Amino acid sequence: LFITFEGGEGAGKSTQIRLLATALQERGREVLVTREPGGSPGAEAVRHVILSGAAERYGTRMEALLFAAARSDHVEEVIRPALKAGKIVLCDRFLDSSRVYQGITGNLEPDFIERLQRIAVNGVMPDCTLILDLPASMGLERARQRAIGGPEEGGPDRFEKEELQTHEKRREAFLDLADREPLRCRVVDASRPREEIARQVLAIVEPLLPS
Ligand code: C5P
Repeated sequence: LFITFEGGEGAGKSTQIRLLATALQERGREVLVTREPGGSPGAEAVRHVILSGAAERYGTRMEALLFAAARSDHVEEVIRPALKAGKIVLCDRFLDSSRVYQGITGNLEPDFIERLQRIAVNGVMPDCTLILDLPASMGLERARQRAIGGPEEGGPDRFEKEELQTHEKRREAFLDLADREPLRCRVVDASRPREEIARQVLAIVEPLLPS
């Protein structure tokens, strides 16, 4: 079972992943928690390049290709083997983030992004994608609160410094995705208390668990 978490900055993805992983482990399930960009040694190396400003330096197309390279490595080295071993894989961001960040707000042609994703995921698609949705202003405020340390410590990276309007555009794009793929994507109201969100997330995931 492959579950991905998506959403804007400060939506609480990593918190919800942690809570879900614990709940599943308590139910005797084997869980692998991973994240993008990164998740494998090769992809973590690329993450460093991307988050240190690849788009400013080399352009968004280059950035999208780097994300795709990182995703491909992550899929083949980590995600596919874990799924083969019967683990439940929880991933913080996956291909939908590329559709939204590089495609919609990065202004790259949808066809280019889709072709890249097909190569990167190579048949490994999430069974379920939880889209944590909240007003951009609220997410940014949360992201700011945890902003101590550098970009790699959860602090304000170059994405988080962007305009509110850009973040709102991404929120709409995630919601559009959910509309287009209602079987895979579930929208979760992430403006509520974390325990409440965690309960809803677990209620969505439980019926999907293999017996
Ligand atoms: O999930 P997290 O917010 O830690 O992701 C790190 C950064 O990478 C984010 O600021 C996000 O905006 C960015 N990102 C991106 N395109 C992706 C995935 C992540 O621009 N495909």
